[in-house]
Amino acid sequence: AKKYGCPADSLGLGRGSWRLLHSMAAYYPPTPSTQEQKEMSEFIKLFANFYPCKPCADDFKEWLQKYPPKVESQDTLSWWFCDAHNEVNRKLGKPLFDCRLVKQRWWDGWADGSCD
Ligand code: FAD
Repeated sequence: AKKYGCPADSLGLGRGSWRLLHSMAAYYPPTPSTQEQKEMSEFIKLFANFYPCKPCADDFKEWLQKYPPKVESQDTLSWWFCDAHNEVNRKLGKPLFDCRLVKQRWWDGWADGSCD
């Protein structure tokens, strides 16, 4: 496995953050209440405000302005985070993730038991 810096560098921080965010979407209710939707929108906004990598946070906040979080359901939120992550992948020249596989990656896990 890759080793990351201690204290957190942008790689380890990013990797851990996406793990949290995609997992939160996977565990988000399929049919959230109005209150839950409001809270998730707020969480994402505040997360962006305090994300401890300024250039990352600035771009993410700009993206949030253009594409407000789709908090209507577990599926829409999972896709929305996948799109957000792909935007960063694109910026960093990484391969784009096939969002149809997001549930398999972050809920069931890959069939071969791998974790990446
Ligand atoms: P990561 O990109 O961290 O991905 C981890 C795992 O998620 C992958 O192994 C894959 O299985 C899965 N995955 C990949 N793409 C998707 C997707 N679209 N949907 C669902 N699952 C996916 N780094 C910078 O250098 N500059 C930035 O501006 C920047 N902005 C960031 C903004 C945010 C909000 C966050 C959370 C992170 C940001 N990062 C940024 C960090 C960057 O996205 C990576 O986390 C970091 O480069 C480590 O990459 P990694 O190759 O380990 O995999």
